[in-house]
Amino acid sequence: MKKTLYGSCTFALGLAIVALSLVNKAGAVDAVAMQPPPVVDPGVLARIRDAAMVNDWGWQRLSDLTDKIGPRLSGSPQLEAAITQLAGVMSSLGATVALQPVKVPHWVRGEEIGELVDYPGRLRGLTQKLHLTALGASSATTPKGITARVIVVHDLDELKLRAREVRGSIVLFESNFDQRLASNGEAGAAYQQSGFYRFSGPSAAAALGASAALVRSIGGAAYRLPHTGLTIWKDNQAPIPAAALAAEDADLIARLDASGPIIMKLVLTPQTLPDADSFNVIADWPAREKSGEYVVVSGHLDSWDLGTGAVDDGVGVIAAAAVIQVLKQLDLHPRRTIRFVGWTNEENGSRGNKAYFASVSHVIETQVAAIENDEGGGRALGIAAAVTPETLAILQPVQKALGPIGATVLARRDGELGSDIGPLQGAGVPGFAPLVDARHYFDYHHTAADTLDKVDPKNLQSQIATMAVLAYYLAELPDVIPRFKALQ
Ligand SMILES: [Zn+2]
Repeated sequence: MKKTLYGSCTFALGLAIVALSLVNKAGAVDAVAMQPPPVVDPGVLARIRDAAMVNDWGWQRLSDLTDKIGPRLSGSPQLEAAITQLAGVMSSLGATVALQPVKVPHWVRGEEIGELVDYPGRLRGLTQKLHLTALGASSATTPKGITARVIVVHDLDELKLRAREVRGSIVLFESNFDQRLASNGEAGAAYQQSGFYRFSGPSAAAALGASAALVRSIGGAAYRLPHTGLTIWKDNQAPIPAAALAAEDADLIARLDASGPIIMKLVLTPQTLPDADSFNVIADWPAREKSGEYVVVSGHLDSWDLGTGAVDDGVGVIAAAAVIQVLKQLDLHPRRTIRFVGWTNEENGSRGNKAYFASVSHVIETQVAAIENDEGGGRALGIAAAVTPETLAILQPVQKALGPIGATVLARRDGELGSDIGPLQGAGVPGFAPLVDARHYFDYHHTAADTLDKVDPKNLQSQIATMAVLAYYLAELPDVIPRFKALQ
């Protein structure tokens, strides 16, 4: 392994080696003895880790956010209450708090009813109720709904092949979530794969004249829960009604479809209201020396409206906030400013990160690193770092400090490590994210089951420890780490 100036032996061990070298028979000073002491005190990193691992503050704040406020979709009074609550909490810690104004989309869910009204083998008078939920940015049917044939496709190629049948029909994208991939530690890749149809399927169906679009819910659990999320329309494209069907109901339709035509009634009445006022919560923890240099620690404060946003992203935003609470508790002020950002509108517009980027893009060198936590409530396994290959050696003391809690993975990445820090990373700011166990994240993500009971307080503590050690280390290093422009 490559040796580095940022050696991780303790200062005491260093002194012992110096003493040994004095009695070296060759009389020469050995190279190890010449290694300077660590540039960031490993004892301090250990104290930060240990304080985080018994931290109760984070769990109390996560309870306040999810049990007392609940779902926090952009434009809702709950999101604004969460912003006020967190700004107050950060201010009481002694951080310098600013609310950065952001105009956010304001979409509200309405009635949602799906029913199979005719299908092969149906007995007279019978229909079947379906479990579904509108996708963000869906348009509405008429209040009485639409009744149309369902066309089942598995991908965009099949949609194109059946283009003539699509006009006036309800298209169902039957794309399975690859739970095996998620179980193998690649939950993000599994989400990208089936998420493609949620993001792009309804738009492709609308372009061919479909009257509505459905997607099989993303996620690996089988509790007949629909998973919402944003769908994306092309510029100037008129949206159509779009919903996620519970996986079981998508599979039911696919089975029946093998025997003949299926007719479905669909009622969706969401509304898109005028843009609403919102804010990013920014809280700066004062620097010891370089107040104009910032290490950003962040998560998003908004959530989808079905659950209470505990795993997405209550855990992430509270773990980021708790970095400052741990430093206050230990009375530590690193060399640089640690800047907490609670992003608004991550889920259905990304307007929060755009507003922040616009405010710092002309002084981008002041942003020395950016950390985002948005991977759910699992145990921290280590750190993902979008940095130059040489930077990995600089980060070894962080890896070593996190050894006792098993968060020792240090994985280099080339791309974005979170949608909210993406613009910063694209402008050359090194990006980081805690790596967490996400094998079961998509069981609950964007569903009514995303509630506080899905979070193990120990896991939250491991995420706080990982973020706090990393943020302190990056803010304390004498020299900033090299810039790295992430692939986008
Ligand atoms: Zn999220």
